[in-house]
Amino acid sequence: MSDAAFEAFEPFVLGANEFLITSHVDPDGDAVGSSLGLRAALQDLGKTAEVVLESPLPEALAFLPGAETIRRPAEVTKQYGAAFLLDSSSADRAGQVLSRCLTPDARVAVIDHHWGNDGYGHVRLVNPEASATAELVYDLIELLRVPISPEIAECLYTGILSDTGGFRYANTSSRTLRVAARLVEHGARASRVAEALYATKTGPSLRILGLALASLEARSGGRIGAMTISLEMFEKAGAKPEDADGIVQYAKALAGARVGMLVQEVAKDEIRASLRSDGSVDVNQVASEFGGGGHRNAAGLRVRGGLGQVREDLIRALERAMNGASPSS
Ligand code: 5GP
Ligand code: MN
Repeated sequence: MSDAAFEAFEPFVLGANEFLITSHVDPDGDAVGSSLGLRAALQDLGKTAEVVLESPLPEALAFLPGAETIRRPAEVTKQYGAAFLLDSSSADRAGQVLSRCLTPDARVAVIDHHWGNDGYGHVRLVNPEASATAELVYDLIELLRVPISPEIAECLYTGILSDTGGFRYANTSSRTLRVAARLVEHGARASRVAEALYATKTGPSLRILGLALASLEARSGGRIGAMTISLEMFEKAGAKPEDADGIVQYAKALAGARVGMLVQEVAKDEIRASLRSDGSVDVNQVASEFGGGGHRNAAGLRVRGGLGQVREDLIRALERAMNGASPSS
């Protein structure tokens, strides 16, 4: 990639010695993998870089090289004059990190692949064609001519594997696979990452999966697979919201469903919902009606309200979107 916007990253990186790196709340494999991969690359350039995330690290990502160095905003004692915001369509997706940990005149570089990116940041690399932010961080590391270490490779490979659902989603392009292959050549252990993301589950995450599966309803004549997790179910499973990551794919797996939906009560009157589409419904559009966002086929939102009420409101909004969209679109 050679556009001027991208090249502005070189002076941005060379112009500071200490960087804060952050990403979105409820971090997934791309948020954490691209953050830790970039951190390792900046360190290889002789810089200091600290990854700060608003939400706790999901257990399943603790295997990533450098995961133990990730800090929460309250643990950060200094203010940074330069920061990277990754995989986030707006500054508020990082929670309080940017407002708490930056100097007032700090410069922020944004690397993201969401369609709805709002234009925030002084230096920007935003490409919705990329499968994952990790794919863009790979491009940046190449631009900076930092050799891809096994550590960098494994972090970025995890981001790509995670955001393509294990190379299954429509965002998996030939380029995605070529970058993934390069990362394996540089030391990413493909089987190790797949094992961690897809074949290792904690007791609480398996128990909450069982309860969520039992809640499955076929709604709208089977066009929507809907799952619901109440606070009581989290308690019964001994699980936390991050233990429910990925469960929405089972709602989407219901044969005949065009949309899978998981609605969770993460705290009293605080609802988080995940939406997944087969491509015929733009769930990013539906999520944005509720103040959320994401991608056409995978989006999420957080709202205040009761669990049942939010679920019914979402089903009505999805029905409107399905009735507006042609089945083949
Ligand atoms: P998930 O359902 O796995 O939490 O998120 C799916 C996608 O939607 C991800 O790209 C995620 O970043 C995005 N997303 C989830 N929740 C929100 C939200 O509240 N606001 C915005 N803008 N995007 C979200
Ligand atoms: Mn992503």
